[in-house]
Amino acid sequence: MNSAGSIEAVAACDVLAIAAHRDDVEQTCGGTLLRMASRGLHTAILDLTRGEAGTRGTAEDRAREAAEAARILGVSWRDALDLADGAVENTVENRKKILRVLRHLRPRVVILPYWKARHPDHSIVATLGYEACFLSGLSTVETDAAPHRPFKIVYASLYADVRPSFVVDITPFIEQRHASLMAYRSQYANQATGSGLFVPEEEIRERTFAEARHYGLLAGVKYGEPFVQKEVGLVDDLTLITVQSI
Ligand SMILES: [Zn+2]
Repeated sequence: MNSAGSIEAVAACDVLAIAAHRDDVEQTCGGTLLRMASRGLHTAILDLTRGEAGTRGTAEDRAREAAEAARILGVSWRDALDLADGAVENTVENRKKILRVLRHLRPRVVILPYWKARHPDHSIVATLGYEACFLSGLSTVETDAAPHRPFKIVYASLYADVRPSFVVDITPFIEQRHASLMAYRSQYANQATGSGLFVPEEEIRERTFAEARHYGLLAGVKYGEPFVQKEVGLVDDLTLITVQSI
């Protein structure tokens, strides 16, 4: 896996997940990244903050844990920008920081968090990420790399009270996804600090598997991750639709 120091050396990626915090992607679309990697696609993760506002662990702890999680998820590249943790803002400066990454990695698909969320950072990233993707395609915005607009943006909607547009079957990858989340020992291992705020380790497994089971059931598989797309789906061949009706 490469990090930002070698961004120029990284081959174009197929799927880039952008999230507010280290460990967001592991919860909302880690199984999908694993599935895409298993199909031979290049995947990448861009976290926008470094976790300095967290109750548990330092930014350095989280950097180490994020690298380990990225290894487990099989991504080709991961890095974190320096946006303010707990106070992410949709500014020109922040859009341009994301744009620089987009133009180097040139993803075909970008995964963003769903635009309504309990944590304000998550909902802001939905808009901030979308606007950065738009800006990245404009030739009038000059940087050291050529303009690039992702073909598709999808929103990871696991924690949103919304009906997904589609679900990705993550059944073969659920244990590996869980291992990537548990790589954040400073956050999720049982410990005294913040024990009133954080759920116990065993409970995390039960909750995340139950969520995945719920979305899997909606699509007729065991475990799934939900996504929302703003566009109406386009079907080429009716006989290749994979969700059974009756
Ligand atoms: Zn988060």
